[in-house]
Amino acid sequence: MIRLAIQKSGRLSEDSLNLIRECGISFVSSTYKLKTEATNFPLEILFLRDDDIPGYVQDGVADLGIVGQNVLVEAGFPALEVETLGFSKCRLSLAVLRNEAYSSVADLQGKNIATSYPQILGRYLAGEGVQAHLHTISGSVEIAPSIGLADAICDIVSSGSTLLGNGLREVETVFRSEAVLIANQSLPAEKQELLAQLQFRMQAVRRARR
Ligand code: ATP
Ligand code: ZN
Repeated sequence: MIRLAIQKSGRLSEDSLNLIRECGISFVSSTYKLKTEATNFPLEILFLRDDDIPGYVQDGVADLGIVGQNVLVEAGFPALEVETLGFSKCRLSLAVLRNEAYSSVADLQGKNIATSYPQILGRYLAGEGVQAHLHTISGSVEIAPSIGLADAICDIVSSGSTLLGNGLREVETVFRSEAVLIANQSLPAEKQELLAQLQFRMQAVRRARR
């Protein structure tokens, strides 16, 4: 039996469940249950917060997980990725107040930036030779500039309408992300075989979708 952790409820959940079903794996899921067993494949599914998934897979509490690369890289475990899945595509971007003058990332030197992604942003800024003050906040990052909490933000952008609604303008793409399958790096042979079967089916599903 192999254990797969997916997001309980959020932007990854539906596509993760659909992918497992399209792999020909049947299971019953209820919104109240935190785990379920497949009926026709030796698979147990755990439903967790996405932020907890990389750590659980790293520690072996779960063998496999489906999570966004943004969360995986921020958690510090990029090496767990085994397969890109092609959904939940988004980008982490820097944004400033709409009326703020901005010509390049150098303009952020010495500024206050609010983000939920201090690791990814810190590495990006270091690569650009910019030193800024990063303020880690876990939600509602977009309101930080308009309430005077920060000069800029770095957050997930998909449509841009949330930015617009908060008087912000996207100025740089920091990181591009999509959902990935991750795996513990010391799986025993039987679980490696099950992982190989799952990856084979996932690749077939992606080919069929194109
Ligand atoms: P949880 O309660 O599990 O912690 P969350 O609120 O942190 O959930 P969601 O908003 O459900 O997370 O997003 C989950 C993941 O989906 C993100 O980490 C990112 O990889 C991806 N994602 C986020 N926003 C979008 C978007 N607008 N479009 C596509 N994918 C997105
Ligand atoms: Zn989360």
